[in-house]
Amino acid sequence: MDKVEKYLAYDGKASIICVNTKDLIEEIRKIHDLTPTTTATMGRVATVCGIMGLTSIKENDDSITVQIKGNGPCGLIVGVIKRQDNISKIKTYMENPLVELPLKSNGKIDVGGAVGNVGYLNVIKQSNITDSEYNGLVPLVSGEIAEDFTEYFATSEQKPTVLALGVLVNKNGVQSAGGYMINLMPDATENEISKIEEALSKSPSISELLAENKTLEEIAMIVTGDENIKLLEDDLQIKFECECNKEKFAEGLVSIGKEDLNKIIEEDGQAEIVCQFCNKKYNFSKYELENLI
Ligand SMILES: [Zn+2]
Repeated sequence: MDKVEKYLAYDGKASIICVNTKDLIEEIRKIHDLTPTTTATMGRVATVCGIMGLTSIKENDDSITVQIKGNGPCGLIVGVIKRQDNISKIKTYMENPLVELPLKSNGKIDVGGAVGNVGYLNVIKQSNITDSEYNGLVPLVSGEIAEDFTEYFATSEQKPTVLALGVLVNKNGVQSAGGYMINLMPDATENEISKIEEALSKSPSISELLAENKTLEEIAMIVTGDENIKLLEDDLQIKFECECNKEKFAEGLVSIGKEDLNKIIEEDGQAEIVCQFCNKKYNFSKYELENLI
């Protein structure tokens, strides 16, 4: 089962959120019929989106939209994140989900090759309460996702962040998936920073830690180097949720105009619309289309 745990390290001078997203990524893999390459790619994006829902969104119904557009074959990737109390609700989309690339020479899935290393990461934050929008755009660093988001946090949010994301997948599906994010509090000193840096340099990768079935608590201790971490929250959740419905797509059909709707009726006699995020199909009969006109 997926898990999210938040800890404080070094007497509150650093915080770490650790997530296991295996079930979530397997669900997304099935929804979008992803290949191993695009499962790893989308899995990393979905995992960081899930984390951001719990760290960057404070108010219910505020939302974040993440757009990643590189020069690689998988094309545009979109993640939409909302928060409801202790739940981070995400949905994701990829332009070309069937892309499959050969493994890199080190045996790893070529996520950077699939995304591309020339392009941008755009983070759009929308607040329902203040009706404001904040936009942070950074160039891609490597297309490997974690590095690109780390750059975003450092430059757009001035929040030095350690971010690790990992997805292990084979032809049978997702074997493990998850990640962690470490943030330093303003009162962290060089001492804590160097201890964390040292722990990170000795730590296996997040994929290896997950493959070894380490618990989130063990991972938090290993990557911070603090054996006295304190559990802050363990009732957080990340889940896939698309709020699409027939009415929303009907509104979309109305917005294309009378002329085009008449064309659809003449040529096809009906319309089928597929939601890009959850692949649900909505059928509109000739009668329903005529009513929309
Ligand atoms: Zn949907």
